[in-house]
Amino acid sequence: MRRKIVAGNWKMNNDLSETEALLNDLIEQVPNTDASVMVAPAFVNLFQAFNVLKTFNVEVIAQNMHQEAKGAYTGEVSARMLKSVGIKTVILGHSERRAYFGETDELLAKKVDAALANELEIIFCFGEELEDRKAGNHFNIVENQLKNALFHLDTAAWKNIVLAYEPVWAIGTGETASPEQAQEMHAFIRKTVSEKFGDETGNGVSILYGGSVKPANAAEIFAKEDVDGGLIGGASLKAADFVAIINAI
Ligand code: PGA
Repeated sequence: MRRKIVAGNWKMNNDLSETEALLNDLIEQVPNTDASVMVAPAFVNLFQAFNVLKTFNVEVIAQNMHQEAKGAYTGEVSARMLKSVGIKTVILGHSERRAYFGETDELLAKKVDAALANELEIIFCFGEELEDRKAGNHFNIVENQLKNALFHLDTAAWKNIVLAYEPVWAIGTGETASPEQAQEMHAFIRKTVSEKFGDETGNGVSILYGGSVKPANAAEIFAKEDVDGGLIGGASLKAADFVAIINAI
């Protein structure tokens, strides 16, 4: 049985008091579940979020980190800093990081190494853009993103990797991949990982879907065989919606 995960990516939303309010709503409403439930507040609110949630079954995770251990990188946050405030998991490779902050596969390979060296678990995001899908290139793009950022790893490292397939055309657009499109790509991803690292790794890695998941569509997407949960943006900002999505798993 693969681990099921529902993770909320709050992006650059919620100041401290809004973060506390949403965390308190979650504490009241979050159901008992076998799935791992995670939320990713902004860096400045991680410490407070960790303290509020530490006795609850919701893990606080980070949205990003820098690849270097320390030094003159103004504005950046290292893996060690994340660990020091209780963080165990980091999202890497989100399409907004790739699009707005120039993160390439090569850079992401370094971030992956730095996170693993610090024993952080990684939710690694990747996915094709609309033009790629229209041109029928989506499998190629996804395969290359995986290979360039993750294929240098040892098999053992995969116990700390969670994959999040997020077609860029479905993020924040209201447009969702159909459950069939998600399943088709997730099965392809699993096969690609299995071919390189063996069936145990391929069958064991959790693959989340992300892109306009909401209460109305979560259950049919999560029902697909190779979909092990979701990375949720907009719909994770309201406790009731996020809880409905958790209940759908
Ligand atoms: P969305 O974002 O749910 O708002 O589409 C998903 C994501 O960016 O992880």
